[in-house]
Amino acid sequence: MLSYRHSFHAGNHADVLKHTVQSLIITALNEKDKPYLYLDTHAGAGRYQLSGEHAERTGEYLEGIARIWQQDDLPEELESYISCVQALNKNGKLRFYPGSPLIARHLLRPFDKLNMTELHPSDYPMLRNEFQKDDRARTERADGFQQLKSKLPPLSRRGLVLIDPPYEMKTDYQAVVQGLVEGYKRFGTGVFALWYPVVLRQQIKRITKELEASGIRRILQIELGVRPDSDRFGMTASGMIVINPPWKLEQQMNNVLPWLLKHLVPSGTGHTKVSWIVPE
Ligand code: SAM
Repeated sequence: MLSYRHSFHAGNHADVLKHTVQSLIITALNEKDKPYLYLDTHAGAGRYQLSGEHAERTGEYLEGIARIWQQDDLPEELESYISCVQALNKNGKLRFYPGSPLIARHLLRPFDKLNMTELHPSDYPMLRNEFQKDDRARTERADGFQQLKSKLPPLSRRGLVLIDPPYEMKTDYQAVVQGLVEGYKRFGTGVFALWYPVVLRQQIKRITKELEASGIRRILQIELGVRPDSDRFGMTASGMIVINPPWKLEQQMNNVLPWLLKHLVPSGTGHTKVSWIVPE
């Protein structure tokens, strides 16, 4: 089943959280001269047209990136992320939103490598076209979870693995844990970043319990909610689970989340969280 299209959701509050964390991890990896691999298992199309039919129909970006990208008091933790958005919208109008592959492309250095997989028959060609002229990058129409076995560890022995499935199949909630365990077994020094939606809180509690029992250490959970948990249909919050986070990430997220909450959820119904599922 491949009915999910990220173009309906690009630039929403969940993307803002995910891409903030992604860009902070990349910036931290860039502090060392050594090359690394960026592995994006569920890459999407790469670029999204916000004036397009899909994004206009839901208008989700209006309550996400549109609320923050031109604020005067932007916290420094958001600078690298917002620089990627600005690079696609040079005339000051918000027309395009960069997906995780374009954020990585903008922030990685000439000697780093990108490896991205996407399965959707419409999104994959767009992703491939974006990277046709980038020597650092390889795109494949392949199963993302499989990459956690076949692409790890990278030759460089450094890297960020972003796992961002659509969760349209309930099995994704188990597959992400299995995938993390498989990936970590092969590449225990890598940074792994898993995105999750809070639709039913119980599903996320199960993920965190399974990770707690996995024996993996240094697992940080970061969350931004826009509404209280509910058992009705729809996403009320989203989060990132990061294994081996860069040492500054916890503090950086503690600094920036109150600002994001204020701007993204002015109604005051939201919440934030930064806590260890498993510490050192
Ligand atoms: N990571 C992207 C970003 O931040 O811009 C968004 C990705 S979107 C949430 C999830 C994507 O996974 C969709 O484009 C979907 O087509 C793709 N997908 C679904 N199942 C997949 C699988 N098994 N392997 C690879 N991609 C898959």
